[in-house]
Amino acid sequence: MRHPMLPGIVPAITPKHDNGKVIIAGPCSAESREQVLETACALKATGKVDLFRAGLWKPRTRPGGFEGCGNEGLKWLQEVKTTTGLKTATEVASATHVKEAADAGIDVIWLGARTTTNPFAVQEIADALSEMPDRFGILIKNPANPDLDLWIGAIQRIYNSGARHLSAIHRGFSVYGPSPYRNPPQWHIPIELHRRIPEIQLIFDPSHTGGKRELVGSLARESYELGFNGLIIESHCNPQHALSDSAQQITPAELEYLLDSLVFKPSGEPTTRMAELRSRIDCLDSQLLEIIAQRMQLTDEIGKLKMDNGIAVLQPQRYEALMETRVAEAESLGINRDFISSLLATLHEESVRRQLALHKTNPKTSETNGL
Ligand code: PEP
Ligand code: MN
Repeated sequence: MRHPMLPGIVPAITPKHDNGKVIIAGPCSAESREQVLETACALKATGKVDLFRAGLWKPRTRPGGFEGCGNEGLKWLQEVKTTTGLKTATEVASATHVKEAADAGIDVIWLGARTTTNPFAVQEIADALSEMPDRFGILIKNPANPDLDLWIGAIQRIYNSGARHLSAIHRGFSVYGPSPYRNPPQWHIPIELHRRIPEIQLIFDPSHTGGKRELVGSLARESYELGFNGLIIESHCNPQHALSDSAQQITPAELEYLLDSLVFKPSGEPTTRMAELRSRIDCLDSQLLEIIAQRMQLTDEIGKLKMDNGIAVLQPQRYEALMETRVAEAESLGINRDFISSLLATLHEESVRRQLALHKTNPKTSETNGL
């Protein structure tokens, strides 16, 4: 039998619904007593929420944004507990936050993506927890960058403090350049985390992954199909006027509608396997595209050399030799001969087109090539 990596781990929160999914919801930030209580009461009324979230100490990417209400919000969360009976959760980034959250009766704490990225901060939190290892349920978000070891390292540090009520949250990974998502999901990473630590509860955050409210529903559905154990969703009584993450928050009524629309598949084994395989294909395809882009850059460079030295674009011997060796290599890998020949011909055609376009801009070489 497999020896568990972190023996004794139990979920940070136990779901109260028959479908076994944990639902955490609440605003990105606690902004005022009224906003916190109005949102919490509306969420409680849905009957679908296990835990109320609200950030008090907000890590902002750039200075000047709303940095959270700070300690003042602790008493609003206490009031949420007494008026609605909902358990409460907030983000901690230091030992001081841990102590203040403990004194204020917060039930669950989470480590944000920027904190998980920093082993010094994680260790400081772990040291504070070692004085009260059973005090909280603890949620550990993935680090901002796609580094599974860093994520596992953070979980291990918190585990080593003696804490056992631990769950992990996938909130996507940061991206540079255009993307439909704020933090694109990389499903194969939480799936690999689950393979290494099967006992860990996996929660998905479609709000920070999508970054736009229109994407929250489809992402949440995808995570259910993958077999995630629950969701953390940002919900605000007045999202348009939220002081942080306004574009991704949904109202409690929208949340209720979304949760009702999620089709739950109790025995999702084949679907889970298929989603895992698709996620690996997505990864390979993006490597393939990267390689094709690199190949194009090289052929552009060759095109320039040909132009500067008055060499014709078409070099038939080179083409023949390339086809022969590549097709043989591909066949030895079990790839169909006709398929690879036409793929290579298409690639070559595109390289020639780009090189010709380059030569056309230079009248001197157009003559040499007889164009
Ligand atoms: C949050 O949950 O409000 C938050 C700041 O999330 P993340 O750490 O995933 O960016
Ligand atoms: Mn947020």
